[in-house]
Amino acid sequence: MELLKERIRRDGRVRAGGVLKVDGFLNHQMDVELFAEIGNEFRRRFSGDEVTKILTIEASGIGIACLTALAFHVPAVFAKKTQTKNIDADVYRTQVESFTHGKTYDIIVSKEYLRPNDRVLLIDDFLANGKALEGLARLVKDAGAVLVGAGIVIEKGFQPGGERLRREGIHLESLAIIDSMDEKTGEIRFR
Ligand code: 5GP
Repeated sequence: MELLKERIRRDGRVRAGGVLKVDGFLNHQMDVELFAEIGNEFRRRFSGDEVTKILTIEASGIGIACLTALAFHVPAVFAKKTQTKNIDADVYRTQVESFTHGKTYDIIVSKEYLRPNDRVLLIDDFLANGKALEGLARLVKDAGAVLVGAGIVIEKGFQPGGERLRREGIHLESLAIIDSMDEKTGEIRFR
């Protein structure tokens, strides 16, 4: 998606450890007009998949998930991050290892909002090692729902998540794939 790549080139900031900061339009201030374009692009890429639900993870995926849900005319659900280890029969629960924070946390979704007859599209802002998406995919499986695929705004192609998920047969659509980033010059190369 050329519009998105231009925006990343213009406003993206390369940080140490292979981290891209896009706070100006995605992760802090949100360009909702761009989000709407992104939602429409996901709608095009997953047309015919009869999506009934958008699933993301809090917090940074929520804005994108909302505008994608608007494009599909379906509800958006976000998995909540939680510290409590209560055995709760009303939720699906799994563990996710965080790339940006380097720790493990639980995510939950109420059984009320993920049903066996759902056809679920996963949405997230970034794909790095793939742990967040894999956690969401496990929740969909536990619910007995169908995983239609996953839509990612920025995939860091130099980290292993995307390749592994595609190998597992997940229909993965990334709107911008970064092959390399140079922390010193700030240069970002796209696939
Ligand atoms: P993964 O589970 O694929 O390793 O990481 C995905 C999650 O980590 C995303 O939901 C995103 O919030 C965060 N993340 C990973 N890499 C980056 C990055 O370079 N920049 C930002 N802003 N977030 C990232």
